[in-house]
Amino acid sequence: MKVGILGGGQLGRMLAEDARRIGIDVLVIDPQKGCSASQVAPTLTAPYDSPEVARALEDCDVVTYEFEGVPLETCRELEAKMPLHPSTRALEVVRDRLLEKSFLRDHDIATADFHPVSNLEELERAVEALGLPAILKTRSEGYDGKGQWRLRSRDDLAEAARELGDRPAIVEAFVPFDRELSLIAVCDAEGAIEMWAPPENAHVGGILRISRAPAAGLTEAQLETGRTWLQRICDALDYRGVIAIELFEVDGRWLVNEIACRVHNSGHWTLDGAKTSQFENHMRAVAGWPIGPTALDGSSAMLNLIGTMPAAGAVESVEGAKLYDYGKAPRPLRKIGHVNVRRDDDAARDRAISDLVAAIGDADLAEADR
Ligand code: AMP
Repeated sequence: MKVGILGGGQLGRMLAEDARRIGIDVLVIDPQKGCSASQVAPTLTAPYDSPEVARALEDCDVVTYEFEGVPLETCRELEAKMPLHPSTRALEVVRDRLLEKSFLRDHDIATADFHPVSNLEELERAVEALGLPAILKTRSEGYDGKGQWRLRSRDDLAEAARELGDRPAIVEAFVPFDRELSLIAVCDAEGAIEMWAPPENAHVGGILRISRAPAAGLTEAQLETGRTWLQRICDALDYRGVIAIELFEVDGRWLVNEIACRVHNSGHWTLDGAKTSQFENHMRAVAGWPIGPTALDGSSAMLNLIGTMPAAGAVESVEGAKLYDYGKAPRPLRKIGHVNVRRDDDAARDRAISDLVAAIGDADLAEADR
């Protein structure tokens, strides 16, 4: 079994590593020479839409991707020739916030109210209907809080519209959430879903800093809602592979923020804290193999390392902590690694997180741990 992976960032790297461990060959494709995955797996350095890539992938049994920026047209062409998972349809929907939100609404899945906007006049009308505060977001290519403007008062509209320029956008109601969570699940070749324990996620400046799993106090009714939504989405999108959904929780109610049709940053803890990781199960699912159990193994957390690596020995000083270095050159706001920490119970895990935050000495991690 050989799987082509479009994209060689850290997600491609961790997919490739788990694939190798279970005997799946991979070929990573990335236009960037020296990309993270190329350090651990066979990699073709070429543009996604080049004939060279199309030729090299003929050797693979199936193709998958690690990020949503992969060209849609390339996926469409590949899908006409060979299995590609998750489907191009899924990619098309989730990478465009308007299609994504409309899809959620059409499938009776709760999400914040929204309106499409493309100029100041439409923005003013949308804000009239939604009220303030609100958030303006580009329809595509926004992630980690990029391409977003918080609208607090009417005075913010003109400036936000000017910065938006001619990019199509949506404006959505601000959700005064109590906490953020994510649902991470895998959908197998038969369309059956297995969900990991949902993590609670802390963001600083729009970027995920800490995920802890399991999230405290989830009810069986909430979990059932989550499974129902996931199944509905996967059925509608002819989905196979790992899927993640980011949620806001308000007074116990869930609203979907966005869907990711790939392995997700808030699922990295599954490498150490679940019977099977999200990376292994993604590769199993796209290969058409039976998926592994998603049950928790203890209580876990993931801390993102952004911009700088901790001093040598800082992570190892905390029991149960494990460092993952993506081999990327440090740059401000760049995800260059993460730390997983696993303990037997939630209280010990939370103490370990605070010990790690102190040892690493990162102000944003400290804010996320408050
Ligand atoms: P996104 O790029 O949509 O994942 O947004 C990044 C972060 O911005 C989220 O994780 C939230 O912390 C915050 N955010 C996004 N949309 C909203 C919203 N409608 N209401 C409140 N906070 C939001």
